[in-house]
Amino acid sequence: MDRNAPASRLVLDAKNVGRRPGSMHEMDLQADAPADFGTDVLFVPEGQTLDLKVRMESVHEGVLVTGTVSATAVGACVRCLDEIDHPVVNHFQELFLWPDRAKHHREVDAEADEQDEHKIEDDKIDLETVLRDAVLPSLPFQPVCREDCPGLCSECGARLEDDPDHHHELIDPRWAALEALAPLAASSGELDNEEKRN
Ligand SMILES: [Zn+2]
Ligand SMILES: [Zn+2]
Repeated sequence: MDRNAPASRLVLDAKNVGRRPGSMHEMDLQADAPADFGTDVLFVPEGQTLDLKVRMESVHEGVLVTGTVSATAVGACVRCLDEIDHPVVNHFQELFLWPDRAKHHREVDAEADEQDEHKIEDDKIDLETVLRDAVLPSLPFQPVCREDCPGLCSECGARLEDDPDHHHELIDPRWAALEALAPLAASSGELDNEEKRN
């Protein structure tokens, strides 16, 4: 492998189908994950492989791109802080408009918003935004290594999985609070009454 090869970008060549409505092109490809592909807690590291299955279909207004992206996101379990691998498999579909059709598209579809449009530029179809929109919302905000991860001891941070019988000889905090009050209570008449009843 050529180490000096530029990182493969998430770009398709619209010429694969061209402006021939009905023509179709299917392919598998691999691309490098761009920077910041994920959330703060779970992300596909930059340069990691994204596996793409893509179908391009030429339609009147542009190229309809349908596909699946697969990758492995990494992060840390929110309970035990262990590293986790999170499989990413997401479906996507987007219509990329020929630049000269984009205006027409807006005229015939009042709902169409220029902001949301994806255009074919110089015969290139850039998938990055589409893939982000497909993958990021699917990532869990609170990833766990497994559903029943016992997490860490709240007292000392020990991993409860390694030491399931782990516990501390601690006074129940409610009793600890009462003990702190006891000297005050002892000087009041109320406690004297209590003690007489006992
Ligand atoms: Zn965990
Ligand atoms: Zn502990």
